[in-house]
Amino acid sequence: MSFTLAIVGRPNVGKSTLFNRLVGRRLALVDDQPGVTRDLREGDARLGHLRFTVIDTAGLEEATDESLQGRMRALTERAVSMADVCLFLIDARAGLTPSDKVFAEILRRSGKMVIVAANKAEGRAGEAGYLDAYSLGLGDVIPLSAEHGEGMDDLRMILSPVAEQF
Ligand code: GDP
Ligand code: MG
Repeated sequence: MSFTLAIVGRPNVGKSTLFNRLVGRRLALVDDQPGVTRDLREGDARLGHLRFTVIDTAGLEEATDESLQGRMRALTERAVSMADVCLFLIDARAGLTPSDKVFAEILRRSGKMVIVAANKAEGRAGEAGYLDAYSLGLGDVIPLSAEHGEGMDDLRMILSPVAEQF
Protein backbone atom coordinates (compact mmCIF):
# COMPACT_ATOMS: atom_id res chain seq x y z
CA MET A 1 0.00 0.00 0.00
CA SER A 2 1.33 3.39 -0.90
CA PHE A 3 0.17 6.87 -1.65
CA THR A 4 1.30 9.93 -3.57
CA LEU A 5 2.01 13.21 -1.82
CA ALA A 6 2.28 16.45 -3.81
CA ILE A 7 4.23 19.29 -2.22
CA VAL A 8 2.45 22.44 -3.30
CA GLY A 9 2.96 26.15 -2.68
CA ARG A 10 4.25 29.35 -4.19
CA PRO A 11 7.91 29.66 -5.24
CA ASN A 12 10.60 29.84 -2.58
CA VAL A 13 8.69 28.37 0.37
CA GLY A 14 11.06 25.38 0.48
CA LYS A 15 9.23 22.69 -1.53
CA SER A 16 12.38 21.35 -3.19
CA THR A 17 14.31 21.41 0.09
CA LEU A 18 11.61 19.25 1.67
CA PHE A 19 11.46 16.99 -1.40
CA ASN A 20 15.23 16.46 -1.15
CA ARG A 21 14.98 15.66 2.53
CA LEU A 22 12.20 13.11 1.94
CA VAL A 23 13.85 11.49 -1.07
CA GLY A 24 17.33 11.64 0.36
CA ARG A 25 18.99 12.30 -2.95
CA ARG A 26 19.52 15.55 -4.72
CA LEU A 27 16.89 14.98 -7.35
CA ALA A 28 15.34 18.41 -7.15
CA LEU A 29 17.40 21.52 -7.56
CA VAL A 30 17.29 23.97 -4.71
CA ASP A 31 17.74 27.35 -6.16
CA ASP A 32 17.95 30.89 -4.90
CA GLN A 33 17.83 32.27 -8.43
CA PRO A 34 14.56 33.55 -9.80
CA GLY A 35 13.34 32.70 -13.26
CA VAL A 36 14.51 29.12 -13.56
CA THR A 37 12.13 26.86 -15.48
CA ARG A 38 11.33 23.53 -13.90
CA ASP A 39 8.66 20.93 -14.10
CA LEU A 40 7.26 18.26 -11.83
CA ARG A 41 9.66 15.86 -10.10
CA GLU A 42 8.73 12.53 -8.64
CA GLY A 43 10.73 10.58 -6.07
CA ASP A 44 10.48 7.67 -3.61
CA ALA A 45 10.12 9.17 -0.16
CA ARG A 46 11.05 7.64 3.19
CA LEU A 47 9.81 9.08 6.44
CA GLY A 48 10.41 6.75 9.37
CA HIS A 49 8.55 3.55 8.47
CA LEU A 50 6.52 5.27 5.75
CA ARG A 51 7.23 4.84 2.05
CA PHE A 52 5.41 6.93 -0.51
CA THR A 53 5.75 8.76 -3.79
CA VAL A 54 6.42 12.46 -3.52
CA ILE A 55 5.96 15.09 -6.22
CA ASP A 56 7.82 18.39 -6.16
CA THR A 57 5.87 21.04 -7.99
CA ALA A 58 7.90 23.70 -9.62
CA GLY A 59 7.48 25.95 -12.59
CA LEU A 60 8.74 29.39 -13.15
CA GLU A 61 10.10 30.42 -9.83
CA GLU A 62 9.32 33.93 -8.68
CA ALA A 63 6.88 34.31 -11.55
CA THR A 64 5.49 37.81 -11.67
CA ASP A 65 4.16 37.97 -15.20
CA GLU A 66 0.58 36.71 -15.39
CA SER A 67 1.21 34.04 -18.01
CA LEU A 68 4.01 32.66 -15.87
CA GLN A 69 1.68 32.55 -12.91
CA GLY A 70 -0.77 30.70 -15.11
CA ARG A 71 1.88 28.11 -15.90
CA MET A 72 2.73 27.72 -12.23
CA ARG A 73 -0.94 27.20 -11.55
CA ALA A 74 -1.33 24.65 -14.35
CA LEU A 75 1.64 22.65 -13.04
CA THR A 76 0.22 22.77 -9.53
CA GLU A 77 -3.17 21.58 -10.73
CA ARG A 78 -1.49 18.72 -12.60
CA ALA A 79 0.46 17.67 -9.49
CA VAL A 80 -2.64 17.87 -7.33
CA SER A 81 -4.60 15.70 -9.74
CA MET A 82 -1.86 13.03 -9.53
CA ALA A 83 -1.79 13.13 -5.72
CA ASP A 84 -3.75 11.36 -3.01
CA VAL A 85 -2.68 13.95 -0.44
CA CYS A 86 -1.34 17.49 -0.84
CA LEU A 87 1.17 19.10 1.46
CA PHE A 88 0.63 22.83 1.20
CA LEU A 89 3.72 24.76 2.26
CA ILE A 90 3.76 28.36 3.32
CA ASP A 91 6.79 30.35 4.49
CA ALA A 92 6.51 30.92 8.24
CA ARG A 93 8.99 33.79 8.03
CA ALA A 94 7.22 35.66 5.24
CA GLY A 95 3.72 35.02 6.59
CA LEU A 96 0.76 34.60 4.26
CA THR A 97 0.91 36.34 0.89
CA PRO A 98 -1.83 36.90 -1.73
CA SER A 99 -0.16 34.18 -3.77
CA ASP A 100 -0.57 31.68 -0.90
CA LYS A 101 -4.29 32.39 -0.96
CA VAL A 102 -4.45 31.53 -4.67
CA PHE A 103 -2.81 28.17 -3.97
CA ALA A 104 -5.15 27.60 -1.02
CA GLU A 105 -8.10 28.10 -3.36
CA ILE A 106 -6.72 25.62 -5.92
CA LEU A 107 -6.36 23.08 -3.13
CA ARG A 108 -9.75 23.74 -1.63
CA ARG A 109 -11.43 23.25 -5.00
CA SER A 110 -9.50 20.06 -5.72
CA GLY A 111 -11.34 18.21 -2.97
CA LYS A 112 -8.08 16.42 -2.11
CA MET A 113 -6.87 15.87 1.41
CA VAL A 114 -4.67 18.83 2.37
CA ILE A 115 -2.05 19.12 5.10
CA VAL A 116 -0.80 22.65 5.76
CA ALA A 117 2.76 23.18 6.92
CA ALA A 118 4.59 26.40 7.77
CA ASN A 119 8.18 25.91 6.64
CA LYS A 120 11.27 27.87 7.78
CA ALA A 121 9.80 27.68 11.29
CA GLU A 122 13.11 27.04 13.04
CA GLY A 123 13.92 29.56 15.76
CA ARG A 124 11.42 32.23 16.67
CA ALA A 125 11.16 34.08 13.36
CA GLY A 126 8.39 31.80 12.13
CA GLU A 127 5.86 32.17 14.91
CA ALA A 128 3.64 34.84 13.37
CA GLY A 129 3.48 33.20 9.94
CA TYR A 130 2.72 29.88 11.54
CA LEU A 131 -0.32 31.29 13.36
CA ASP A 132 -1.36 33.23 10.23
CA ALA A 133 -1.66 29.99 8.31
CA TYR A 134 -4.63 28.97 10.45
CA SER A 135 -6.64 31.73 8.76
CA LEU A 136 -6.50 29.73 5.50
CA GLY A 137 -9.19 27.56 7.04
CA LEU A 138 -7.51 24.37 5.86
CA GLY A 139 -7.09 22.88 9.32
CA ASP A 140 -4.12 22.41 11.60
CA VAL A 141 -0.74 23.77 10.63
CA ILE A 142 2.49 21.85 11.19
CA PRO A 143 5.60 23.94 11.83
CA LEU A 144 8.46 22.55 9.75
CA SER A 145 12.03 23.30 8.98
CA ALA A 146 12.86 21.41 5.80
CA GLU A 147 16.39 22.76 5.90
CA HIS A 148 17.07 21.74 9.50
CA GLY A 149 14.89 18.62 9.58
CA GLU A 150 12.57 19.90 12.29
CA GLY A 151 8.93 18.84 12.41
CA MET A 152 9.53 15.68 10.41
CA ASP A 153 8.17 13.50 13.25
CA ASP A 154 4.96 15.54 13.30
CA LEU A 155 4.65 15.13 9.55
CA ARG A 156 5.16 11.38 9.90
CA MET A 157 2.48 11.16 12.61
CA ILE A 158 -0.03 12.97 10.44
CA LEU A 159 0.78 10.86 7.38
CA SER A 160 0.71 7.49 9.21
CA PRO A 161 -3.09 7.12 9.31
CA VAL A 162 -3.26 8.48 5.75
CA ALA A 163 -0.91 5.75 4.56
CA GLU A 164 -3.32 3.12 5.86
CA GLN A 165 -6.11 4.42 3.64
CA PHE A 166 -4.23 3.70 0.42
P1 GDP B 1 10.87 26.11 -3.61
O1 GDP B 1 10.94 27.21 -4.61
O2 GDP B 1 9.55 26.14 -2.88
O3 GDP B 1 11.20 24.77 -4.16
O4 GDP B 1 11.96 26.46 -2.47
P2 GDP B 1 13.46 25.90 -2.30
O5 GDP B 1 13.43 24.54 -1.69
O6 GDP B 1 14.20 26.10 -3.56
O7 GDP B 1 13.98 26.89 -1.16
C1 GDP B 1 13.98 28.29 -1.33
C2 GDP B 1 14.92 28.92 -0.34
O8 GDP B 1 14.46 28.72 1.01
C3 GDP B 1 16.34 28.33 -0.38
O9 GDP B 1 17.25 29.38 -0.19
C4 GDP B 1 16.35 27.37 0.78
O10 GDP B 1 17.64 27.18 1.30
C5 GDP B 1 15.48 28.11 1.79
N1 GDP B 1 14.83 27.18 2.76
C6 GDP B 1 14.22 26.01 2.51
N2 GDP B 1 13.80 25.42 3.66
C7 GDP B 1 14.15 26.24 4.67
C8 GDP B 1 13.99 26.19 6.09
O11 GDP B 1 13.46 25.24 6.67
N3 GDP B 1 14.47 27.26 6.80
C9 GDP B 1 15.06 28.33 6.19
N4 GDP B 1 15.48 29.32 6.98
N5 GDP B 1 15.25 28.40 4.86
C10 GDP B 1 14.80 27.37 4.09
MG1 MG C 1 11.61 24.18 -6.09
